[in-house]
Amino acid sequence: MKFGEIIGDGELKEHLVSMVREGRTGHAFLFREEPGYGALAYALALAQYLCCRNRTETDSCGSCPSCNKMQKLIHPDLHFAFPVNTSVMVPASSKQPVSDMFLPMWRKLVIGNPYFLEQELYDATGIANKSGGMSVNEAANIVDALSLHAFEADYKIMIIYLPERMNPVASNKLLKLLEEPPAGTVFMLITQSLEKLLPTIVSRCQIIKVHPVPADELRKVLVERHGLDAATALIYAKLSSGSYGKAENLLREEKEVSSDRQLLYDILEKGLSHDLDGMFPIMEALSSLGKEKQRNFCYFGEVLARKLEMLGLGMDGIAYVTPSEKDYLSSLAVRMKPGFCRRMLYIFDNALSELDDNVNARLIFSTMCDYFYLYL
Ligand SMILES: [Zn+2]
Repeated sequence: MKFGEIIGDGELKEHLVSMVREGRTGHAFLFREEPGYGALAYALALAQYLCCRNRTETDSCGSCPSCNKMQKLIHPDLHFAFPVNTSVMVPASSKQPVSDMFLPMWRKLVIGNPYFLEQELYDATGIANKSGGMSVNEAANIVDALSLHAFEADYKIMIIYLPERMNPVASNKLLKLLEEPPAGTVFMLITQSLEKLLPTIVSRCQIIKVHPVPADELRKVLVERHGLDAATALIYAKLSSGSYGKAENLLREEKEVSSDRQLLYDILEKGLSHDLDGMFPIMEALSSLGKEKQRNFCYFGEVLARKLEMLGLGMDGIAYVTPSEKDYLSSLAVRMKPGFCRRMLYIFDNALSELDDNVNARLIFSTMCDYFYLYL
């Protein structure tokens, strides 16, 4: 990936390029982002720039043998670690799964869209309903990969996507590597939850903050890549808060009519008609989803609560409702009791923290259904 292909933040591109140009590259970068901001794209562009044989003052050449391999993610000095779990695509074995087993799926996903969201990784690797993790086996693989000399480049690059998914033993192994990095190694960690990393890991890295794409710039990209008209593109740019990955995801969901949306509409309808029995199958369906999908459902609920509140206040202009939602949400906003949107935000916020605390999912979602039955 070239820097020129990345959407947004010209300043960050210039900062990374000038570090390499001036030989100020440290041995560990920690890219900090919100989901879909594209930190992985920056890491890939930086790796390609570091290894390019014909780099210019501003970017890699994109055509030397090194760039060719980097672009296909098959450069022998480029390594990856990312969260995995047992999967239909990787036969169950006695060994815990590690990233290497999923490399073909990883390459296809990243080359197609480096702005993917965590759930898209799990869908692509077939672990869908489970959360991914990084075990001590993964950490051992990282050590092995970095114990060799670089094959072709001056650097061995290890990109670790979401190190917050490492278990404590693996985290400690990573810390040891960062304390005494093997010669010529450059670590690029990409986190969406800095607070979940060991502070000792964070303190050994140079932190690079990835910013959201400004709404107007995102709007232009959505017009170019998805053929949207300017007004619709602006709605998606605002809805996704500057995250290109979220905007892509929203556009896909619009086409598919997401299952999250249907489940939430079902709860709202059953709550409005005070049909507690009718909520039971919805509660069962939510409880049997994987944790990442349950989180996504709650995020979606929070977004919808905000939109309903704005519609209820007559502030349609900043509700950022997508065209396919407009009629239904406008009618819903009128039928709901005043103040329910605020309570709805609390319900989903609470469910999210309980999911993080590993509270039983049936308990979380049956309480949620009770609230909708009682207060709608
Ligand atoms: Zn090149």
